[in-house]
Amino acid sequence: MRLSRYLLPLLKENPSEAQIVSHRLMLRTGMIRQEAAGIYAWLPLGLRVLRKIEKIVHEEMQRAGAVELLMPTLQLADLWRESGRYDDYGQEMLRIKDRHEREMLYGPTNEEMITEIFRGTVKSYKDLPMNLYHIQWKFRDEQRPRFGVMRGREFLMKDAYSFDIDEVSARKAYNRMFIAYLNTFSRLGLKAVPMRADTGPIGGDLSHEFIILAETGESAVFCHKDLVDMPAPGADVDWDDLQGLVDQRTSLYAATEEMHDEAAFNAVPADKQLSARGIEVGHIFYFGEKYSAPMGAKVSGPDGSQVNVHMGSYGVGVSRLIGGIIEASHDEAGIIWPESVAPFDVALINLRVGDEACDAACDKAYKALTAAGRDVLYHDTDDRPGAKFASMDLIGIPWQLIIGPKGIAEGQVEIKHRATGERHTAAFDAVLEQLT
Ligand code: ATP
Ligand code: MG
Ligand code: MG
Ligand code: MG
Repeated sequence: MRLSRYLLPLLKENPSEAQIVSHRLMLRTGMIRQEAAGIYAWLPLGLRVLRKIEKIVHEEMQRAGAVELLMPTLQLADLWRESGRYDDYGQEMLRIKDRHEREMLYGPTNEEMITEIFRGTVKSYKDLPMNLYHIQWKFRDEQRPRFGVMRGREFLMKDAYSFDIDEVSARKAYNRMFIAYLNTFSRLGLKAVPMRADTGPIGGDLSHEFIILAETGESAVFCHKDLVDMPAPGADVDWDDLQGLVDQRTSLYAATEEMHDEAAFNAVPADKQLSARGIEVGHIFYFGEKYSAPMGAKVSGPDGSQVNVHMGSYGVGVSRLIGGIIEASHDEAGIIWPESVAPFDVALINLRVGDEACDAACDKAYKALTAAGRDVLYHDTDDRPGAKFASMDLIGIPWQLIIGPKGIAEGQVEIKHRATGERHTAAFDAVLEQLT
């Protein structure tokens, strides 16, 4: 991508409405633009990061056996009357009427709709277990939308729904999502801690929130310190029996404020007690027959009888994650993207646009890197070098390849690693080889 053709509206000043660093940096780097309170347009740079996160979420969902579909954003109120949640949900639900005066809503979550799809399409226990998911926009009319995408009103969520013949099998589905979440967040460069959590309006009795620790987090959390640095299990696990891996984590104390048990926390050795603030980036629930019973989602069991399916639901705040990643990874100069989600892999900085040798070397580098599948942002405008360095540091691309007239005359270029700040001169060809 050539910067001269791109939309990258960088802001020099910190926007006064942004209270936390991730919101400030997302606005300053032109990733998002507020269109209404809690409603954002995703500008090209922000959208790239969103797509990279989605891709990782898709891969880990599918690895865990979930199947993608896509449900609409608008739903019929009548569907929510079947579960009894229409009146309970309150003001967070955006209620709309169509031209025939039919009551509709913009989905804040999809338990009812997926249950409706399931009951209309799956009839036998032989089709189970099943896990269906999508990544779709949600709307919640939050009382206090704030912190940018962290608490938006319109936001992108991955929501998965599992269907099983009984509780034993449903708990296995829960465990698969539990492990898939750990792997997902780890690939995003985050340390997410699973914590016992309240189930809120979704319901049920078994639930974990996945929390990343950050001073700006909205939740007070309490956990055993060892959970914070415990590595994710990775893909190479026995997906049919994950209980050991789950127990290893859930046996250590970790709870959000609503579920906090002071006595149990005090039983944790004092030097291992961590009381902190955190950001909820994922939330998983097992709620048995809460929706299947009132909505009649049944399958025929092995003995021919009709049984209500046992369900769970599993949410990831895809758009919120961007804020979370920036909170966890930035410095004075700007964002430091983990390579897995960086909007571009390499910033190619031409220090003298118009100089024949510089332009030719940049063209060559651009072609070679792009051909090797690297996402390159080519800084090809006539800004001063200092401004180019500052803006590329600000948007946080992992590698900067800097090409200037003096160096290139001797076949030398500079390479800078954003995360460490290390910058060194090297032979142009060697650098191309390293980056391709
Ligand atoms: P919160 O406690 O932050 O209000 P929630 O518990 O209401 O979140 P869930 O119903 O558990 O949210 O939804 C699943 C996930 O969706 C959350 O874990 C969070 O990552 C994300 N999410 C929820 N509300 C928002 C929001 N307003 N903006 C961005 N992401 C959100
Ligand atoms: Mg909420
Ligand atoms: Mg919550
Ligand atoms: Mg939640």
